[in-house]
Amino acid sequence: ETLDKGLEKSSTSFLSKLTKAVAGKSKVDDTVLDDLEEILVSSDVGVGTTLKIIDRIEKRVSEDKYLGTEELNKILREEIAGLLSETNSGEESEFTIPKNKKPYVIMVVGVNGVGKTTTIGKLANQFKKAGYSVVLGAADTFRAAAIDQLQIWADRVGVPIVKQQMGSDPASVAFDTLQSAVAQNADVVIIDTAGRLHNKVGLMNELTKVKRVMQKVVEDAPHDVMLVLDGSTGQNAFEQAKQFTAATEVTSLAVTKLDGTAKGGVVIGISDEFKIPVKYIGVGEGIEDLQVFNKYEFVDSFFK
Ligand code: GDP
Repeated sequence: ETLDKGLEKSSTSFLSKLTKAVAGKSKVDDTVLDDLEEILVSSDVGVGTTLKIIDRIEKRVSEDKYLGTEELNKILREEIAGLLSETNSGEESEFTIPKNKKPYVIMVVGVNGVGKTTTIGKLANQFKKAGYSVVLGAADTFRAAAIDQLQIWADRVGVPIVKQQMGSDPASVAFDTLQSAVAQNADVVIIDTAGRLHNKVGLMNELTKVKRVMQKVVEDAPHDVMLVLDGSTGQNAFEQAKQFTAATEVTSLAVTKLDGTAKGGVVIGISDEFKIPVKYIGVGEGIEDLQVFNKYEFVDSFFK
């Protein structure tokens, strides 16, 4: 609902651009395809994924000899849903964690400003509401503000947080957090990490060390390495995905700020290009403004 509101807000929504491109035309021709390509790229779908989509539509045009513009919308939906299906099962709607992992350890990565802390807070809230006990770990020790912000969320949600002073070793904070979680028999641990993109080797070393130290406490931790991306930043989000996936094995995505932007296309491009499922989407600043990603709902709102 909130997502619909966000994506509808702008008159530059995907659907309105598409409608304009096919106005007065009865069939899909080269001009329509060119326009479509431009619209997809400008909606942040990404060049690689855009070309893939155009290619498939071209194929259908040549197979059927004729493709009416009225059918284009339906076909595009199918193609986009198909692309998303490759990585996103899309059946989930609840905030749940696997039963056989306790504590279930989520390591959260992403650069400053993308909404990492907010997403952790919202997620902790949802897990708590779902009946899980949650422990937060403030292993983004580079900025004092990051630790303070996480503390504010921990208080707001009412979950324990493990932290040290600013500048302390992130791996040491992660270690303490897991030990504390195990001692409390907690269900979920969410660890905030690496907020800065220093050079690639630096990032890789830092994340590798945090992981290795966590495994001293919980053998197969982390169970999920979640990259948070700001959905309103288009190319930057792609660039960050590239850097983080090169530095560590990212297993899920949370895409924030999909309210107030017509650029939800980044979700399509990034999940296709990096073959990583989008687990959560942020649709506002409030504590409830986090949704489990559902590809059907997403496609519906993209075409609204
Ligand atoms: P961090 O530096 O990555 O930890 O970012 P923060 O969590 O502090 O968030 C940065 C800003 O983005 C804050 O003003 C948040 O309220 C805002 N923010 C986070 N997620 C969302 C979202 O889904 N939608 C909107 N509109 N704002 C968000």
